[in-house]
Amino acid sequence: MPTVVKADITTLQVDAIVNAANNSLLGGGGVDGAIHRAAGPDLLNECRKLGGCATGDAKITKGCRLPAKYVIHTVGPVWHGGSRGEAELLASCYRRSLELASGAGVKSIAFPSISTGVYGYPVEQAAKIAVSTVLEELVKYPGIEEVLFCCFSEGDRAVYDKLLSQLSPFMEGV
Ligand code: ADP
Repeated sequence: MPTVVKADITTLQVDAIVNAANNSLLGGGGVDGAIHRAAGPDLLNECRKLGGCATGDAKITKGCRLPAKYVIHTVGPVWHGGSRGEAELLASCYRRSLELASGAGVKSIAFPSISTGVYGYPVEQAAKIAVSTVLEELVKYPGIEEVLFCCFSEGDRAVYDKLLSQLSPFMEGV
């Protein structure tokens, strides 16, 4: 069963952290900036070789100076009101990140609240997609033993906690 933490994702001792990146993969603000600052310049050098990333897709790099062994860079959709495929693109970020994580042998992974910062996705809606997609996909990847939803504010943490407590009675053993 996934758990919710309030933390700076760069400090987490997990096999992989997910970065809410932009299409260039060359760094930005928010969680992306924090991850690049903490990982050091080798992360940007590795990202330069990846040729960017489409919205809804993900790419994996080493964690460099981070405690995490890997960073999975995914590009969430910019919120335009919900009628431009945002929900499907956001779900795809979680699916592709888990697929890459599993391929790399990752046992523990932490996700930030993708798209809900500068990209403007309403957190209640984004969190529903995050939690439901992860729960659906996790059954495919028995090697992934731990999933953390890493929130950066108390308000976000409350949103995720509520969703997981609503779902947990139905998720025995997940
Ligand atoms: P996006 O462009 O996908 O919206 P942002 O980085 O602006 O990405 O925001 C995504 C989420 O990450 C927001 O909830 C923001 O508060 C959070 N965030 C920012 N810095 C960190 C951090 N160091 N650790 C975890 N979450 C963070």
